[in-house]
Amino acid sequence: MRWFLMLIVCAVVFSPAGRAARAPAFHVLAFYTDQGEPDHITFAQQALAFFRKAADRDHFSFEATTNWDACNADKLKKFELVLWLNDFPKNASQRTAFENYMDRGGAWLGFHVSAYNDEDTHWPWFVQFLGGAVFFGNSWPPLPAKLVVDDRSHPVTKHLSATLAAPASEWYIWKPSPRLDKKVKVLLTLDPSNYPLGLKDTIIAGDLPVVWTNTHYRMLYLNMGHGDKIFASREQNQMFEDAILWLGASAAKPKL
Ligand code: ZN
Repeated sequence: MRWFLMLIVCAVVFSPAGRAARAPAFHVLAFYTDQGEPDHITFAQQALAFFRKAADRDHFSFEATTNWDACNADKLKKFELVLWLNDFPKNASQRTAFENYMDRGGAWLGFHVSAYNDEDTHWPWFVQFLGGAVFFGNSWPPLPAKLVVDDRSHPVTKHLSATLAAPASEWYIWKPSPRLDKKVKVLLTLDPSNYPLGLKDTIIAGDLPVVWTNTHYRMLYLNMGHGDKIFASREQNQMFEDAILWLGASAAKPKL
């Protein structure tokens, strides 16, 4: 009789329903667009599949939306971490809600074009948030690149070797380089051996940080995010997952 009871207890604890009942460690809201550049849409779709699986593995909740008006206080206060996969807020109310969210302890993970800004963007807060980085140029077509890991002791890079063979992406160069901002910690940099990088649009020189954090916020930017090859590297995938875990675990739901 006793072993029969044990059997029932085990069945409940280890059943899928038992596992599903476990409270999420943190809550992630991903914003993206399904309009515009096809290579950015492809990336977002693959990223959604990747992060949904990671959410199951690592016990966080994952919600995604193409509605950027969901970038408001009522919605954001339910999430410890916000992702921008392939776009950014365009109007003042979305931008103000995001600023308040970050200023009050929320966390952000952004890929590729989500950090794009130039003289037409008119969002100075976002430029300082990125460590002063303004889009200056890009490589074309998408190509693999060798990246140097600046600091392997960081939670985001702890599983990487000294260098990372990053799958094909379009690479951006920023002026000024965010490395010049004292608040910025650069985690991966394009190896100068890649120069000249590109065929049609070529980056020939310069300091090109690829992954960095502004240490005054819980944020991380990764330049990868163009095309259908981004999730082809096991090592890079591990870094993406480590990035989510670092930001999600360190953030709190802001009081908005
Ligand atoms: Zn792109």
